[in-house]
Amino acid sequence: MRAEILSIGTELLLGQIVDTNANYLAQQLPALGLDLLYISQVGDNRSRLAGAFRQALERSDVVITSGGLGPTEDDLTREAIADVLNETPQVQPALEAHLREFFARRGRSMPERNVKQATLIPSAKPLPNPIGTAPGWWVEHNHKVIASMPGVPHEMHKMWEEQVLPRLAKRITGGGVIVSRTLKLIGIGESHAEEAVGELTRSLNPTLATYAKQDGIHLRMTAKAATQAEAEKLLQGFEPQVRARVEEWVYGDESASFPAMVGAMLRQRGLKLATAESATGGQLASLITEAPGASDYFVAGYVTYSADAKRALGVSAETLERFGTVAQETTSAMALAARQKANADVAVATTGNAGPGASEEKPVGLLHTVVDIQGRQVCSETRYSTTRTEYKRRGALDALFLLWRELKHDVKLS
Ligand code: ATP
Ligand code: MG
Repeated sequence: MRAEILSIGTELLLGQIVDTNANYLAQQLPALGLDLLYISQVGDNRSRLAGAFRQALERSDVVITSGGLGPTEDDLTREAIADVLNETPQVQPALEAHLREFFARRGRSMPERNVKQATLIPSAKPLPNPIGTAPGWWVEHNHKVIASMPGVPHEMHKMWEEQVLPRLAKRITGGGVIVSRTLKLIGIGESHAEEAVGELTRSLNPTLATYAKQDGIHLRMTAKAATQAEAEKLLQGFEPQVRARVEEWVYGDESASFPAMVGAMLRQRGLKLATAESATGGQLASLITEAPGASDYFVAGYVTYSADAKRALGVSAETLERFGTVAQETTSAMALAARQKANADVAVATTGNAGPGASEEKPVGLLHTVVDIQGRQVCSETRYSTTRTEYKRRGALDALFLLWRELKHDVKLS
């Protein structure tokens, strides 16, 4: 079946926002067996929007849209669909009541113009939006489908996963089911992960897709079968093959949180953790404390940016004089000092240069990380070529990866 994506909003055409919605949706379609033929962007203009829908319905079986479902004058997705199908939107009392309730729960009365979010045309069914005001529209017309979702990314993602994806899957497999499983990886880049799984990416059922996400690389395996049990069985056979090739980097399935995983390991072994950060500016401590109950094992995080602060932590004046503030030796001394000062068993320290300014001994993107486990130290030196923000985010993640790897391989501890 042929599919196309329509991203709606003048902001896109003005270059004020990036079309991450289309990107997200495009990644979702292969697993459904849908062939994506076009991605278009249209501004908030009723006749151009109607034109885009007319063309899409001529050449595609499934049209997936985001944006333009809001209450304002320039939110015209519903109107354009109605124009093309020659139907008239009518307010649905049940939807309207629901909408008023949504506002009432927040202690506000509903602005009258929001009523248009409670309209439907005869060909449309509402797609619930529990985290926003705009319900989506699921439209069936001449064996074609239009699925219209809000523009706000997290609302769209939820509606896609809970409403649109299951409906499309049912339609495509003719009553069959699609089941997915995800493996999360850390410490490996997307292209390396793809290389590692090799020819498995060409498997047709289950399919295997890689995604670079904030918490690492996701490998999604998707199986299609007549029943849930059969799809599960396909995955049961496939997952071990995938795992075997990326074992070193896998930290869990879709529900896994990396900080929580590392935390569980520390808790289980009764180890206390401290951090001393320069380059990552506290992001490592922030990442560690994303895990609920981190206080069980996380003692202290020191952000020691200046030489004086490093000295106050316990790094010797000689070390700083000899090696400077950004060096493996200094990082190593920071890890030791943090471990001792916090009376912890394990410490992680970072120094580096997030950029953009550079010097000979401090090239942009350089990051030193040292993990100290009861006095045994492991160092890593990395060079990132990315933005300052991304440097800090990935630096913190990679530092935690180094700790995880050492904890896993530390035979003395396990
Ligand atoms: P609302 O009810 O908030 O008005 P809507 O369905 O009308 O929702 P839009 O007004 O088109 O959606 O977009 C709302 C916001 O969602 C935009 O300001 C933008 O930040 C984000 N957004 C919209 N479309 C996209 C897109 N294609 N990619 C990424 N973000 C988007
Ligand atoms: Mg809007």
